[in-house]
This record gives sequence, structure tokens and C-alpha cells, in this order.
Amino acid sequence: MPELPEVETVRLGLQRQTQDFLIARVEVLRNRAIAAPPDPALFCLALEGCRIEQWGRRGKYLLAVLRHPDGQPAGIWGVHLRMTGQFLWIAAPEGAGSGPAVAPDPGQHTRVRIWEQNGAELRFIDTRSFAQMWFVPPGRAVDSVITGLARLGPEPFDPGFSTPYLQGKLQGSRRPIKSALLDQSLVAGIGNIYADESLFAAGILPQTVSGRLGSQRLERLRGAVVEILQTSIGAGGTSFSDFRDLTGTNGNYGGQAWVYRRGGLPCRRCGIPLMRDRLAGRSTHWCPGCQT
Ligand SMILES: [Zn+2]
Repeated sequence: MPELPEVETVRLGLQRQTQDFLIARVEVLRNRAIAAPPDPALFCLALEGCRIEQWGRRGKYLLAVLRHPDGQPAGIWGVHLRMTGQFLWIAAPEGAGSGPAVAPDPGQHTRVRIWEQNGAELRFIDTRSFAQMWFVPPGRAVDSVITGLARLGPEPFDPGFSTPYLQGKLQGSRRPIKSALLDQSLVAGIGNIYADESLFAAGILPQTVSGRLGSQRLERLRGAVVEILQTSIGAGGTSFSDFRDLTGTNGNYGGQAWVYRRGGLPCRRCGIPLMRDRLAGRSTHWCPGCQT
């Protein structure tokens, strides 16, 4: 499942590829992909004729700012990739005339197709079909339409994600720190991969009761989360799972994983075989030598 670094990698790709993209035509091939408005035809109508001004990100949500050609605000286009959603950039066909090209068979997992006037296509593919898109009209609060946004905690790179913040939130908590890190209302964007990697980097066992972590260990954990996420963004996301960027390739972080999916293999730091078990319903990896 894409986590913050993968979604950020997609955002950077979209920002690069669709700068000043003027949406000429939108086609929804699977209605379930559109969460709002309820009628997908209205989603198409809302986006058609708009220019993509820029792509932002909040947690694992991608948020495109739309403008009318006259510069007036045209609302927000929100996307959540969930398990397997991915954008694919398809350049305009050679010698394309004016008007969107009628492209051949898009493949069975294509959910939404967005064309620019010159025939270039931004294609949205989703094998598991859990991904969602929203259109938020101008003037509406974004989190009144994309309600999941209202529940998100601070971004890991925000000053609000501080050691005192973690201390306050985790005080008296009985749940394992791994579960807390996966909770999007504590901090936005962390999933299974980066929770395991951050806990290894901080030297903390995933099963540790959250409320027992003192400020020094929480500061180590906060620093580890930020550093691991930044490293992975620099690597273009992970090289495993179904993640793909706009060109259909995945990232380079996998080669650097310390514990994730390395159960039974020797720890890269101390050589002891790494452990793997289920915790809070998720496969969890750790080193019994390096993490206490
Ligand atoms: Zn170790």
C-alpha cells in the first residue's frame, strides 16, 4: 500500500507532468472510483475545461487545485490511491491533431481517463478498486467533502509533530507503539513499512506499550520517522508492493530496508536473525538485538 513517501513521489510526478494541464475531457470507466459528487457525470463536467494549477498532499491524499481559464478558482480534485491506485502518463500520440485522441483499449483496470487538448492522457488504474476521487466545489470546506481529512493528525514534517505532542497523545496509552504509529489521527501518512523501519531506527520494540515511552525515546522515534520518510522520498518511494510512479516504475527504497520483509534474515546491523509476527493485524518485523 502506498504510504507517505510513495504518495509524495506520485505528487512530484503529477506536479512535473501536469503543470498547466488543461483538462479537455474526462471519462469514468468505473463509477465506484468517484466518491463525490454521487453522479460521476457531474465529476467529469466539473473537471472539464479546468486547468490544473498545482498538486498538494495531505497525509496520503493528493489534492489538485483547479482553475478556470479566466483564473477563477474551480475547486479541488482529491485522490486517495488506497491499495493499488496509480496514475500513468501517456504522452500525446505522434502527429496528433487538435482535439482529444480516441485511444485504443485502455485495459481492464483503467478507472478514470483524463485528456489534455493535445491528446496527452493522464490515466488512472486500480486493480483492487479501492481508490477514490472527489471533486470539491469552490467555496466548500475541503474536509466537508473529503471527510477523512478531518481525522488526520499532523504531517510528520510539520512542527506540530513534536516530542511534547507525542508525549501528550500517548500518555497513559496501553496500545503498542506500532499500532499508534499506524493511527492516522496521531500522525498522517505512516503505514506498515515505515512504522517497522522507524521503530528499528529508533531502537524501540514494536510491542512496547506507548504510554511507557519517555521523552528521550519518543524524540528518537520522532527523529527516526522524519529521517526514514525523507530518505525514502529521495529514493522515489519503495521498490516493493504494487507502487508505481507516473512512468510505471517503482522506487529504490527497498534495497535499503532494515527490517521490513526481512523476517528470518540476519540483521544488517548486528547479524541476529530478524523476527516477524503479526501485531494489530499487520505483519511486523523487528530485530531482537537492536530493539528493546
Ligand atoms: Zn540487529
